[in-house]
Amino acid sequence: MPGLGEQLPALTPHEAIVESNRCLFCFDAPCTHACPTHIDIPRFIKKIATQNILGSAKTILEANLLGATCARVCPVQELCEGACVLGSEHKPIMIGRLQRHAMDFAYSRGVPKFHTQAAATGKKIAVIGAGPAGLSCAGELAKRGHAVTLFEKRELGGGLSTYGIISLREPMEVALAEVEMVRGLGVEFRSGVELGNGLSVEDLKTNFDAVFVSAGLGVTPALGIPGEEYILDGLAYIEQSKLDLANLPAGRQVVIIGAGNTAIDCATIAKRQGAEHVTIVYRRTAVEMSAYKHEYDFVKKEGVEFRFLTQPVEVIRDKNGVTGLECVSVVLGELDRSGRPAPQLDLNSRFVLAADQVVKAIGQDKLSVAAVLGVATERGFIQVNSQFETNVPGIYAGGDCIRAKGASSTVMAVQDGKLAAAAINSGLTWRT
Ligand code: SF4
Repeated sequence: MPGLGEQLPALTPHEAIVESNRCLFCFDAPCTHACPTHIDIPRFIKKIATQNILGSAKTILEANLLGATCARVCPVQELCEGACVLGSEHKPIMIGRLQRHAMDFAYSRGVPKFHTQAAATGKKIAVIGAGPAGLSCAGELAKRGHAVTLFEKRELGGGLSTYGIISLREPMEVALAEVEMVRGLGVEFRSGVELGNGLSVEDLKTNFDAVFVSAGLGVTPALGIPGEEYILDGLAYIEQSKLDLANLPAGRQVVIIGAGNTAIDCATIAKRQGAEHVTIVYRRTAVEMSAYKHEYDFVKKEGVEFRFLTQPVEVIRDKNGVTGLECVSVVLGELDRSGRPAPQLDLNSRFVLAADQVVKAIGQDKLSVAAVLGVATERGFIQVNSQFETNVPGIYAGGDCIRAKGASSTVMAVQDGKLAAAAINSGLTWRT
């Protein structure tokens, strides 16, 4: 599997064997408990130690169909490696890199096919959205013998793994290879289709026994400030860095608005594109920002400056384009609806940050898909029960579109898809 340009080099076979032999192969391993998809980590590491690398990949895929993506983008410091018993006094096992070693070995021999295919059930399931939750759900349902059609509005599957995570962390080829693996399980993939555009609710009701919605989130919301039309969209910026890097506009003084993982990725791209000065502005503090701690540390080492408690109020430009971003200082007040302190602007504190490029990465709006399907929502996110079923029987949902509370992540979306597939399977069996 191609890994050109990745931040961390692949382990050599020798390094992988040495690292896997450091593992204590704990009983009731805390690393496995800390993994949202509960991969049997000591088991897959043991197989690397005994040079059964394909067996190791099989163990990973049994729990997590997107093992190659998760090996790269999971915040392992906060999950499996953070829980490793060797972490307190020694160095935790490099679980993420060992997982990548096993997955890359398997993919280098073609699309992995370890599953046993169940007999066809005659049931049809529609999955809407081919991001991590949709791929996971579609693959798990196909393994159980159901006929799955995966609808994706973009040309390529993989969701944010394909379009929205910088190549340094996950090359596009890794995500696309996983899409092929899911297709190889028998899933029919229909791209360029979305609800209301080539697919209606009537189509879903008529042609399918169940629906899984994994449509992710929508576009970046507006800031509502003068000159906003001159601000680049962070997700589009990352997408162009993956699809068309040669034509990505390079700034010399770049300001990124927002402090989540997308903002960190945008700052990393700007630096690698040769920007002299990259500043992240955020209206709260490091305590409230949603970027992972290790990503924050990484980008600070890259030389990115952080301006906390800072709110943009206007993009300054002249006849040649953007020259700066006018900002004001912020004081944090009472907790708002998000449970975080509400920013209060000090309008007498105006100052201008020099900038020839401004990028915003301030999260994504909720999608209108819930209203089209008539399912209940909470703050715009689709409401589901413990079985991932909405208030409309037969319509299930998972991934970012249901995550009204707490942080969202790729691995959580994969687990949503896996659990929803099990629930859909039982629901169909029960209704038969
Ligand atoms: Fe190996 Fe660490 Fe997991 Fe124990 S906790 S099984 S040492 S990776």
